[in-house]
Amino acid sequence: MTKRDYYEVLGVSRDSSPDDIKKAFRQLALQYHPDRNPGDKGAEEKFKELNEAYSVLSDPRKREQYDAYGHAGASGQGFGGFGDFHFGGVEDILNDFFGFGTIFGGGRQRSRRGADLRYNLEIAFEEAAFGTEKEIVVPRTAACAECKGSGAKRGTQPERCAACNGRGQVSVQQGFFSMTRTCGRCHGSGEIIRDRCPACGGSGAVREKRSLNVKVPAGVDNGTRLKLRGEGEAGQNGGPPGDLYVVVSVREHPFFVRDGEHLLCEVPITFPQAALGDAIEVPTLSGRKKLTIPPGTQSAQEFVMKGEGIAVLNGHRRGNLVIRVVIDVPRKLSKRQKELLLEFQELSGDSPGPISRSFLEKVKEIFG
Ligand SMILES: [Zn+2]
Ligand SMILES: [Zn+2]
Repeated sequence: MTKRDYYEVLGVSRDSSPDDIKKAFRQLALQYHPDRNPGDKGAEEKFKELNEAYSVLSDPRKREQYDAYGHAGASGQGFGGFGDFHFGGVEDILNDFFGFGTIFGGGRQRSRRGADLRYNLEIAFEEAAFGTEKEIVVPRTAACAECKGSGAKRGTQPERCAACNGRGQVSVQQGFFSMTRTCGRCHGSGEIIRDRCPACGGSGAVREKRSLNVKVPAGVDNGTRLKLRGEGEAGQNGGPPGDLYVVVSVREHPFFVRDGEHLLCEVPITFPQAALGDAIEVPTLSGRKKLTIPPGTQSAQEFVMKGEGIAVLNGHRRGNLVIRVVIDVPRKLSKRQKELLLEFQELSGDSPGPISRSFLEKVKEIFG
């Protein structure tokens, strides 16, 4: 599914002021809020879309990134996009409208979506390359099974608070002004629990450790976020659960260096191998492979092995493996080796290699 432009979602122009954006969001949020559209999936989706758009456009830093890079802006990579919305600001605004149960929903407590959770998953280099399946254990709150989240003992129901008549708010007359305050008896919930559920102590929520199987696709990299929809904290009062974001970090490999989908590996060769050429064995992700290096190979010369890199995330191709040969110069030489090298040097004194030749030419051009 392609994402709609955030400005389009809020129906504002790209140069709108933060105030205009806030105003537009309020109006649309009011229209599409789930409390006003019970059971309407379309409205729910729209409301989520609004939240997401607002969470980005109301944050100056995120808005800037979004303006510059579009939907890929804030997170750079991975599936998540702007996954971890700062719901704080959105909640505040909505509280203005929905915090008081009296406005919509006839004194019922408003439902609230559960919080998103983040889980940091470290995996091996090869697991990132080929994909893997991991079992993780996520501590989270869940609706209490005993009371189904109501907090009341089995067989009983929470009662409507008599002090506020279930509204959660009470009006206080002060001179000419009538003020509303959170009800002190039910603390705003509008309900009183006489017999608390013994399993959750009346909170309606329990801590649990949930083990989940996470499918990690081939090609993930440091910072890739995998979204597990609905596996976050439980929602309140029938609200939907949050999502779980599994954030991947990949352990380093002893000799492969990763650059996106490509791999780099430095392989030492001897000077005679470089000069004479050879068929050498190089490591790949799928074991040792032969690589032919031609006579006259230079130090740091690179050889590309196509398709021997990392799988492209959500794609069907693989990147390349780049083998960079480095000439391994011996530290200790026997007397005989020294003699041979000196003889070699004497013989090649007036026929240097291609790099020296081009270097000497450049020096001559500049210094004359
Ligand atoms: Zn309970
Ligand atoms: Zn009350």
